Amino acid sequence: MATKLDYYAVLEVTREVSSDELKKAYRKLAMKYHPDRNAGDASAEERFKQINEAYDVLKDADKRAAYDRFGHAAFEGGGGGPGGFDFGGGFGGGGLGDIFEQMFGDMMGGRRGGGGRSAGADIQTQVEITLAEAFKGVKKSITIKTRVMCESCDGTGSKDKEAGVEVCPSCHGAGKVRAQQGFFVVERPCPSCHGAGRVIKDPCPACHGVGTVEQPRTLEIAIPAGVEDGTRIRLSGEGQSGGKGAPAGDLYVHIAVQASELFQRDGSNIYCRVPLRMAQAALGTEVEVPVVDGTRASVKIPAGTQSGEHFRLRGKGFSVLRSSSRGDMYVQVVVETPQNLSKRQKELLEEFEKEAGEHVKSSPEHAGFFSRVKDFFEGRS
Ligand SMILES: [Zn+2]
Ligand SMILES: [Zn+2]
Repeated sequence: MATKLDYYAVLEVTREVSSDELKKAYRKLAMKYHPDRNAGDASAEERFKQINEAYDVLKDADKRAAYDRFGHAAFEGGGGGPGGFDFGGGFGGGGLGDIFEQMFGDMMGGRRGGGGRSAGADIQTQVEITLAEAFKGVKKSITIKTRVMCESCDGTGSKDKEAGVEVCPSCHGAGKVRAQQGFFVVERPCPSCHGAGRVIKDPCPACHGVGTVEQPRTLEIAIPAGVEDGTRIRLSGEGQSGGKGAPAGDLYVHIAVQASELFQRDGSNIYCRVPLRMAQAALGTEVEVPVVDGTRASVKIPAGTQSGEHFRLRGKGFSVLRSSSRGDMYVQVVVETPQNLSKRQKELLEEFEKEAGEHVKSSPEHAGFFSRVKDFFEGRS
């Protein structure tokens, strides 16, 4: 059996590499060693094969976990290595149950609890809701993937539950190997079994030897009215299941509230910007505005309203978390200067403007400003 290179080394990445980084590393190398670019170069061709083989395993979460655990042995069907070991004969000290409990616990990636039991890992997920949903509160179905014990192999990871696991031939079950390094002898985890001390001869096809499989689970979560963007909801015990008899982890749901095109929220207050036509602001009008609860409200705009003025609608704001009260809504009007005028509109406005000089009071700020400018240039201020 030829010695196989470590898949991580082949892809020039660390064991902690994220799946995104892994993909990048693979693309880079696959491009470099692609046969089209290295015609007739046998070593590049060999390298290209190794890169693909390594990526094939590491890109798949199940296979990667199996590889981390058992190394290349995880994918060597049938044959088996030297030194078969019969578990049936009784495994002194520890025992098979312990081994699998340990394996199972490690698979769950859980923190170690008391007495060697491992609690399941926490899961993080995100849910996006609209502002209207955040106002009313909403129930959302979410699907999360958790790892559960593989039923095909009862969590053993081996196709043959009874006799498919053997002591690692490299370290004879110790999980560690000794190597001379200068003057010192150092111990490190066995590279063949990655410290497990055991290898699976014929991995279970359903779980690739991991002993657990990913299973989707759908939960309904109640998001309370008044929730803010970035709120985190904790569902205790809904995370990864723990090892035998150990508690499950928690599920954390991060709430993302979509930005609204109509409303801006600030705590329990809501702001809505309403553009008014110039004549509406000058003559006064009544405008209908949307309210975040889905109703409409009417706002009286008095004659002579200036751009930027606010009108407050009490109790029409956002719901307050764990309370029946509501904040206020602020309607901010913005006067829109007309553009792309028709011929008739132009005539009317020109006529309107002719009157302006005689009615200084209709634009007092304008008149005041230009009289101060005049004083300035004539040295009076
Ligand atoms: Zn299995
Ligand atoms: Zn080993």
